[in-house]
Amino acid sequence: MKFASRTAHLRPEGAYRVMALAQELERQGRDIVHLEIGQPDFNTFPSIAEEGKRAIDAGFTRYNPSEGFGDLREAIADYSLKRSIEANASQVCVGPGAKPVLLFPMIALLEPGDEALYPDPGFPSYRADIEIAGGIPIPVPLVEENSFSFDLAALESRITAKTKLLILNSPANPTGGVISSEDLQAIAAMAQDRDFYVLSDEIYSRLVYDQQRAPSIYALEGMSDRVIIVDGFSKSYAMTGWRLGYAIMPEPLAQKVSLLLTHAVGCTAGFTQRAGLVALDKCDQDVSRIVSQYQERRNVFVDGINQIQGIHCRKPEGAFYAFPNVSELGIPSVELADQLLNEAGVACLSGTDFGPNGNGYLRFSYAASIEQLNEALDRIAAFLKARG
Ligand code: PLP
Repeated sequence: MKFASRTAHLRPEGAYRVMALAQELERQGRDIVHLEIGQPDFNTFPSIAEEGKRAIDAGFTRYNPSEGFGDLREAIADYSLKRSIEANASQVCVGPGAKPVLLFPMIALLEPGDEALYPDPGFPSYRADIEIAGGIPIPVPLVEENSFSFDLAALESRITAKTKLLILNSPANPTGGVISSEDLQAIAAMAQDRDFYVLSDEIYSRLVYDQQRAPSIYALEGMSDRVIIVDGFSKSYAMTGWRLGYAIMPEPLAQKVSLLLTHAVGCTAGFTQRAGLVALDKCDQDVSRIVSQYQERRNVFVDGINQIQGIHCRKPEGAFYAFPNVSELGIPSVELADQLLNEAGVACLSGTDFGPNGNGYLRFSYAASIEQLNEALDRIAAFLKARG
């Protein structure tokens, strides 16, 4: 079959690929510690699940507005004020997960030949979506020494007359890094001087540690008409399978994205949206509780992995990923991840699953119990010791 060239670049996502390999090993009787997939190990909070069930019984099972229920869009706009994001409901588009509302603004904005800058290492859908949308992906390296933020001079050197969009992700997958307010200020100034849009993926904004906050570039002076915030319920409320996300953007763009939602997905399940309202309304305490658990797990895992010779890991400020530097071990990341899975029974991802700049790193999701994390640390240490 001859496929359209716009699909030629598509590759499987590392997390799904490694999870399938790990499950195959389990079928063969192997015991695997799963630290590969980026999803909470908690169940959806009971109040959310109850509302979802109630809403099915109440008949929220039909088509509904493509851009989402009005009251949910209002609630999202109100909730965003807590992070100084001032937006109207008319700027909010709800979608089945954050992924579609990540792609559709790019489809709406990028002309063939337009350049879009994205972080490397970064969430694999960024590059894939830029290419699907017909843009030219331009990777910008993240720098470990700069808390996995950009080197601003390197970012600036990649901006051209064709730059239409810059993707930010803070807190970040896969590094756990949070972009500082100073860096956001500098990036906002570049966006205004050189006239490009910023798509800011803030899906991990509630998962920050040590009383820190993840500021949004949207809230900076003069930025609200050039920023698209992508956010969602998957990570903060343990709702990955419910499929509920949203984006906040300038109203004319929201109208275009709403049309793309109409023609591509129709709408987001009504009972899922009702459940989302409860998440925003009633679950701040549940989120705080899991944030302290993730923080404890992060400390256990990062302190433990730093005890292993040849590995050093910055303490991530947010999300639930550790991104240790393993370059001293002298084994390419892909091979090391492969050996850890097959020989040590620890499933993790090679940093290169997130772009070439991820070489020399591994990504571990610490959304797992402390027992599993300690088991993984023991297995990694024993494996590397035996290897000598
Ligand atoms: N953005 C980032 C940075 C992610 O890590 C993920 C999921 O892994 C998503 C977006 C997509 O989330 P959703 O489940 O809402 O589609």
